[in-house]
Amino acid sequence: MNHDDLNLWSKRAADWASEYHASLRDRPVRAPLVPGAISSQLPPIPPETPEPIETIFADFDRIVPPGITHWQHPRFFAYFPANAAPASMLAEQLANAIAAQGMIWQTSPALTEIEQVMIQWLRQSLGLPEGFTGTIHDSATTATLSAVLTMREQALGFEGNHEGLSGAPVLRLYASAETHSSVDKAARVAGIGQNNLVKIPTDGSLSMKPGALAGAIAADRAAGFLPAGVILCAGGTSVGAFDKIGECIAVAHAAGLPVHVDAAWAGSAMIAPEFRALWAGIEAADSIVFNPHKWLGAQFDCAVQFLRNPTPQVKTLGLRPSYLETAGTEDIVNFNEWTVPLGRRFRALKLWFTLRAYGLEGLRDRIRNHVAWAEEACEALRALPGVRIVTEPRLSLFTFALGDDATTEALLNRINDDGRVYLTQTRHKGAYVIRVQVGQFDCTRDDVQMIAKVVAALM
Ligand SMILES: *Cc1c(COP(=O)(O)O)cnc(C)c1O
Repeated sequence: MNHDDLNLWSKRAADWASEYHASLRDRPVRAPLVPGAISSQLPPIPPETPEPIETIFADFDRIVPPGITHWQHPRFFAYFPANAAPASMLAEQLANAIAAQGMIWQTSPALTEIEQVMIQWLRQSLGLPEGFTGTIHDSATTATLSAVLTMREQALGFEGNHEGLSGAPVLRLYASAETHSSVDKAARVAGIGQNNLVKIPTDGSLSMKPGALAGAIAADRAAGFLPAGVILCAGGTSVGAFDKIGECIAVAHAAGLPVHVDAAWAGSAMIAPEFRALWAGIEAADSIVFNPHKWLGAQFDCAVQFLRNPTPQVKTLGLRPSYLETAGTEDIVNFNEWTVPLGRRFRALKLWFTLRAYGLEGLRDRIRNHVAWAEEACEALRALPGVRIVTEPRLSLFTFALGDDATTEALLNRINDDGRVYLTQTRHKGAYVIRVQVGQFDCTRDDVQMIAKVVAALM
């Protein structure tokens, strides 16, 4: 295959894409789960000789779609949707065509400079004060790992990277049990250890108790541990918990600890000023992550980390061997020094296209609709005899259950085998509950109303 073939086949791929998207409402959302059904159709050995692209494309069309859970289906109400707005898909095609690396400014100035401008556009969109800067990571997991590595190095006077941790005091991190498992993973990967991630109790509203945070830090210091930082939750994945951001940051800062806030899915909602009370006090955070690849429609991968002061993170992650030096200019930004990987895709391009193609007003309308429609769906389910709303809507997320765990799980299996909507489960206070998360870019009010219809028909 050469570039002429690419021209032809990328046009065919565009036609395929438009038929695919137009057909989504007629397909079951979740792939039928038959282990091995896809892999058994592929030969176990790689080809020795070239194959025609016609054959490859035909195999793709035959084998792949039946094994896909359709994340761009308008009735995907599971996890949090990973949205891909059409404008974002177009930008990704162009980024693919260029296929440049943005590890340092001179490896493609446009990658770095558009990224810097997009960070500032998003900072203003979310109502964050001037002074925050930031970078784009692949995922919230990587952003949180970067923040935790920085906490570790700050606590150790930036010696951990050189000395290792074996002779160091035992570090401690603090978060509530409502934070995402990426925080647990960061504690593990950073060498701090799962057992040194202290889970602070939450109050009736599922916020970390600020007094309990202060107490845990003081007790750890008295016991000879070295507290390193606090991770707060602004929209938990399970049921949408929000910590009391301002109060918890005040406690952390009074104890001299930096704070990272995980707002991966809910952060996008802050483009609408009426939701900002949920994270009141955010301007004091040291680091914030949110995923435009969730609710803003800039497709995966696109996780934005805002930093009040990038210097500690650059001191932690930045390495500048002589082959990565830039001739002449000292005041340019080399974004690989802000992140874990060296290589960097042109992720800012899809933000530029998406923000312009829909405008903040268009994006706000979508999010406001999703929140309103989730509340309607919650009321429709509450009205069904036998359905219990377990957690009330937090933005566009709520949970419900039937009489006991087994009947709730059986209902969820029937819903997902039916295929008209896709929902997933979580555990809340030990009980099995079904999550409803409205956030798909193309979903309509009718699509959301389908949830209660399907539940009513299948219970
Ligand atoms: C989705 C999510 C994550 C993980 O996001 P990735 O970008 O897939 O790493 C982390 N935290 C919260 C609250 C999330 O909703």
